[in-house]
Amino acid sequence: MHVNHHEFVIKRLASGGLITNYYCTSRCRHCLYACSPNWEKKYIDLETTEKNLRKIKSLGCRSIHIGGGEPFLNPDGLKMVLETAESVGVRIEYVETNSSWFKDRGSACRILLSLKEKGLSTLLVSMSPFHNEHIPFWKVKGVMEACHVAGIGVFPWIREFYDEITGLGDETTHTLPEYEDRYGPDYMRRLPSRYWIHFGGRAVKTFVNVFGTRPLEEILSDGRRGCTELLDVSHFHFDLFGNYIPGLCAGLAIDGNDLGQPLSRQEYPILYTLFERGVAGLYELATEQYGFKAASGYMSKCHLCLEIRRYLALSVKIDSMELRPLPFYENI
Ligand code: SF4
Ligand code: SF4
Repeated sequence: MHVNHHEFVIKRLASGGLITNYYCTSRCRHCLYACSPNWEKKYIDLETTEKNLRKIKSLGCRSIHIGGGEPFLNPDGLKMVLETAESVGVRIEYVETNSSWFKDRGSACRILLSLKEKGLSTLLVSMSPFHNEHIPFWKVKGVMEACHVAGIGVFPWIREFYDEITGLGDETTHTLPEYEDRYGPDYMRRLPSRYWIHFGGRAVKTFVNVFGTRPLEEILSDGRRGCTELLDVSHFHFDLFGNYIPGLCAGLAIDGNDLGQPLSRQEYPILYTLFERGVAGLYELATEQYGFKAASGYMSKCHLCLEIRRYLALSVKIDSMELRPLPFYENI
């Protein structure tokens, strides 16, 4: 068994973002952070914004993006974040949006211009069949036109879907089965090769139905190596609660204050288990100490990890600062 005895420490941050809110108009089936309309309507406050941004800067990262949830659901909050970034000296590369807030060109331009004053330069406009299940495409096109008028850059994510979505019609939303009917029964199966999807959070639930499972034993024997993914800083996120999300392991949290120095083993037993003994270590801990009963198969080690953590958080209700934010597990 490969056991990694290094300490867990995040010393530097490369590239990442700030999650201003987890509530969202949509409940996309690929959403890594399990955002949805059911989350409480809480937006990041000034103090947490400042604290997160100072920490990010102190660890060597000087530009980030803003995402959610849907950051535009609170334009005043978004203004505050842009202002704070300016004052702390962290550049905002872009703000993500799903375009649900679009009503008409005039009001969209007013909102965009007021944000441009505060430093907004580029919008990442979400464009995918997952988003289109919840948001009609005319709104997305409306936001892009308004950006053009307001002199704000657009980064369509991703443009490749533009014609497919338009082909089904802009006026209403369209379900994934409609995409399959129109573009072929293997539509879902082909999506991950066309669009970056990380199989964590709600995406696991969706794609296990597409790709199926592998036997538990196989997942466990492959999952004995420590998860070095937890140290990945190339796509990091901080959230409105002051959590740092290690790697892309949504649902795991490190208190932002604890970055920069080795984490305490007492305070972070789950993280250390995953870091040193991988998902097999977490599985042993959960079965031996908490009565976890596994299914016969899982899609991947991250699927098993997620199900164990969900069990610990919601069924055993262990009070752990590592399994945060709790509503993540309720909203998957
Ligand atoms: S992917 Fe974006 S738009 Fe969809 S639920 Fe998640 S945060 Fe909302
Ligand atoms: S198994 Fe868990 S800790 Fe390891 S990479 Fe997957 S989600 Fe992260």
